[in-house]
Amino acid sequence: MEPDTRLLFMEEALIEARAAGRRGDLAVGAVVVAGKRIVGRGGNEATSSGDPTAHAEVVALRDFARRMPDANSVAATMFTTFEPCPMCLGACLLMRLETVVVGGRRRADDRAWGDYRPELLAVMSAAGGPRLQVRQGPLADECLITRGPARPADPGAEVRR
Ligand SMILES: [Zn+2]
Repeated sequence: MEPDTRLLFMEEALIEARAAGRRGDLAVGAVVVAGKRIVGRGGNEATSSGDPTAHAEVVALRDFARRMPDANSVAATMFTTFEPCPMCLGACLLMRLETVVVGGRRRADDRAWGDYRPELLAVMSAAGGPRLQVRQGPLADECLITRGPARPADPGAEVRR
């Protein structure tokens, strides 16, 4: 995917992130792209909906599945403004996405998920099949600024080793 196209899709994910922030949710957004077209989108709704699993990536994947009954067999890429947690990366694997493009990253001292990194889970889950690719995307700084610091409602945000 060309750099300009990646920029465009990350900007769309940021639109979802800002909408989430305005709702009072953690400002993270995601879009799912297939055939250079957005086929799913969403922002974090965990606080506003009271559903702790309503992370941006899951909301976007649910939208993708609603729009495309054969979503599971469509070659698709997710753009997310913050690196997916293990639940969300698991959902990307279940949906058989080809690639996840990540904006902001956890700081090295953020131990909320221990040694977890999306690249590691993708490798562990490959099991001889095609591996989900995790790529660094554009606008990382803007994605981080938009999200802001983790809130206590973040899963594991209070966990320290
Ligand atoms: Zn998540």
